[in-house]
Amino acid sequence: MTREEPLGLEAAVAMQFLDRQPGEWYCTDCWAEAVDIDPRTVYRVAVLMATEEAVAAGYQAKVGGPCKICDAMGSKTAEMKGFRSVQSLGRSKG
Ligand SMILES: [Zn+2]
Repeated sequence: MTREEPLGLEAAVAMQFLDRQPGEWYCTDCWAEAVDIDPRTVYRVAVLMATEEAVAAGYQAKVGGPCKICDAMGSKTAEMKGFRSVQSLGRSKG
């Protein structure tokens, strides 16, 4: 039993949020706030979304990427170390 416990419903909710806004990048902080889920949970989802499987499913994530919300507010996300950004590629449905 080396696998981590499944993220389950919260991950599904978080990823559906991205699906509704394909092409938009969010950092994990803003993403967590937008979906009202524990930032540690969405961070784990973001880590999983950097895998090839997730990319094949239409998602991507990267360390230190852009963020629709932070960038609009003019905050300097680049100064935050280790944060991740996530994006739906909009392929999962039509
Ligand atoms: Zn942000």
